[in-house]
Amino acid sequence: MSASSLYIHIPFCAHKCLFCSFAIAVAQTHRAHDYLNRLDQEARAYRGAHLDTVYVGGGTPSMLSVDELRRLMGIVREYFSLSDDCEMTIEANPEGVDEPKARLMKELGFNRFSLGIQSLDDRYLKFLGRWHDAWQAKEAYALWRKAGFENINLDLMYAFPSQTKQELETDVRAIASLGSEHLSLYTLTIEPYSRFYAQAIKLDDDDKIAGHYQKVVDILQEYGFGQYEISNFSKAGFQSRHNKNYWRGGRYIGLGMGAHGFTGHRRYWNTAKLQEYLNSTEAVAGFEDLDDATLAIEKVLFGLRMNEGIDPALVPSQKKSLMDDFVRQGFLKTEGARLKTTDQGRLVLDELSVRLI
Ligand code: SF4
Repeated sequence: MSASSLYIHIPFCAHKCLFCSFAIAVAQTHRAHDYLNRLDQEARAYRGAHLDTVYVGGGTPSMLSVDELRRLMGIVREYFSLSDDCEMTIEANPEGVDEPKARLMKELGFNRFSLGIQSLDDRYLKFLGRWHDAWQAKEAYALWRKAGFENINLDLMYAFPSQTKQELETDVRAIASLGSEHLSLYTLTIEPYSRFYAQAIKLDDDDKIAGHYQKVVDILQEYGFGQYEISNFSKAGFQSRHNKNYWRGGRYIGLGMGAHGFTGHRRYWNTAKLQEYLNSTEAVAGFEDLDDATLAIEKVLFGLRMNEGIDPALVPSQKKSLMDDFVRQGFLKTEGARLKTTDQGRLVLDELSVRLI
């Protein structure tokens, strides 16, 4: 199979954060050896695929030991061919990584590093159920820099219940001033299967959150972060190629528990249960085949999330008049040969998307 991107899911976490609804396995790192064996088997089916990007996410990939990380990269290099400038990202949490491990990740070929900071406000970190505090987050950032990483992403979360504009501004400025090359913005949502959902945590109203979103965008601009997707910001030359491949409708392979993949017309997903994944001979638990009309709509929806917009010819004929309405109402605009989302449109993009489907 030809693919340009590979996602590998490492599900292990020390505990479950209160907002989390990802496919994870808590306190199960003693099963990492079996997990890597299963990944090895799964990867064989894709032998020879050429990759421009590799993303190791989780869960907490940095919980793997030095030997396990070596084995993981051995699997990647054995079964896949990597382009010379392959973008190789690994995620980590601020707690639990030392400098030798960070240096090893660099030696293994990772050239992009993503740190799950979320906030530098200790009260909100506690609210989220994170195990690190602001001091640890800053220390971790410095450690990865010292290990030689020149392309670092930080995750930034906002829209905590009752978060004031002043708190938001202080937090965003603190994170932006660390000096990373990339920031991924997450709006707190209450997802089914999260502890927050069970606790019936209530979020602030949409207008307030939209105002906060705009504030974040404005502040990040001041710090030299260019927005290139609705939730992603980078310094010049540091946009995430891996994520752009997703948004442009490119193919990708997903390996590991709960991972998703896309062949160009089929989307598939692996079982999200650790034991089932380890026991399986076929990890794929389900798939959907997308017809041309659905693929076209998806390309439009994902494309409009990006600042580069889309070629208007991608808009299916039955949706053209609706698109024209959105342009007249100021949610979309044409710039040169591209159709793009306006600032106003970004605030209601989910709603526009629902009407387009
Ligand atoms: S938010 Fe991240 S660190 Fe926390 S439980 Fe979920 S995957 Fe693990």
